Amino acid sequence: MGRDVLNLAIGLGATCSGCDVTIVDLAEYLPKVLSSVNIVFWPTAADLKLKDLEAMGDGSIDLALYHGAIVNEENAEIARLLRRKSKLMVAFGSCACFGGIPGLANLAAKDILLETVYGTPSTDNPRGIKPQGEAVVGGYRMAVPKRLDAVLPLSGVAEVDYSIPGCPPQTSQVRDAFKAILSGNLPPKGSIIGPAKNLCDECPRKREEKSIPKIVRSHEIIADQERCLLDQGLLCMGPATRAGCGAKCIKANMRCEGCMGPPDGVRDQGAKMLSTIASILGLEGEDRMSEEEVARLMEGIADPVGLLYLFSLPSSILRRKLGEV
Ligand code: SF4
Ligand code: SF4
Repeated sequence: MGRDVLNLAIGLGATCSGCDVTIVDLAEYLPKVLSSVNIVFWPTAADLKLKDLEAMGDGSIDLALYHGAIVNEENAEIARLLRRKSKLMVAFGSCACFGGIPGLANLAAKDILLETVYGTPSTDNPRGIKPQGEAVVGGYRMAVPKRLDAVLPLSGVAEVDYSIPGCPPQTSQVRDAFKAILSGNLPPKGSIIGPAKNLCDECPRKREEKSIPKIVRSHEIIADQERCLLDQGLLCMGPATRAGCGAKCIKANMRCEGCMGPPDGVRDQGAKMLSTIASILGLEGEDRMSEEEVARLMEGIADPVGLLYLFSLPSSILRRKLGEV
C-alpha cells in the first residue's frame, strides 16, 4: 500500500467487541506510522450508518477490518458492502476468520436455538415471547434481521484478502500486520498473517511423555507449571493451534483452547487434535482394545465439539449439524 494517509473502516457482525479493544490499543501506534488515519466507518465508536457506507465510492476505503461471525442477513449485507468499497478486506479475529464461538450455534437448528434462549426456565419470559421478524411499535416499523440457516466465517459471504486470527488478536500481532499492510510487503492474498507453526513450537514447557494413562479436566488437578499440560492429561489444544499469541494461557497454567485456529498445513483443527489425542491415548490400536477400554479412555472428553471446535466449527470439514442421528 505504501502510503501515509489511511482510510480505515471497521465492520462488525456477531461480535463481543473484544476485537474492538485490540483496535483501540493501536491508538498510540498508528499516529507514529501515519500522518493521518481517517476512520470512515466504525459503528462501535462513531455514529455512522449503513447509508453513509452506501454513499462511499467503490474502492474508496483503503483497509476494512471485519470482526465477528456472519449470523444474519444484515451481517452478510454489511460484509458484502464493505468488500465492494474497500481495496483490502481483512478478517479480524477468530469469529471472522473461522466462525468463532458464535459458530457453536451450528450445533442446533434455528427454532431450537430460539426455544433454548427464550423458552427454558433459566429465561424470565413468562409469556413465552420470541423475537418477531417485524413489529410496529408506536407507529414505527421495526425489523429484526433474518437469521441465516448456519453461522459462517466472513469468507462465507465475501472475498477475504487476509486473516488475522485470535480471540481477540494480540496487539503485537496486529502491529506486525499493519507494518506489512502499510509497507505493501504482504504475503500472497488469502494468507493468514501470523506464524505458520503450532503453539507447541513456542511453548516454554518441557514435553516428555509419548502417552498418557487418562484424560483429566482442569478442576481435577493443580497442574505442574513446568511440564507440558498434555503430558499431565489436560487436553491442551497447542498441537493443533497456530502460534502467535505468546502462549499467554499456558503461562497462566491454563490449557490452550485453540483460539488462533489451525496452523499452516492443517485443514481441520478438531481432526488434527483428535488424531493427537488418539495417539497419546494409544487409541491408534483401537482394534486391539475392548469397547469398555475405549469408552473409559474417552470418558474424559465431556464436550467433544466444545473441545475440538470451540473457535472453528463453521470453517471445519463438519461445518454444522443437520439433525439428530
Ligand atoms: S474473536 Fe473473540 S474477541 Fe473477537 S469478537 Fe470473536 S469472541 Fe470477541
Ligand atoms: S501441548 Fe500445550 S502445554 Fe504442551 S507443549 Fe503444546 S502448547 Fe505447551
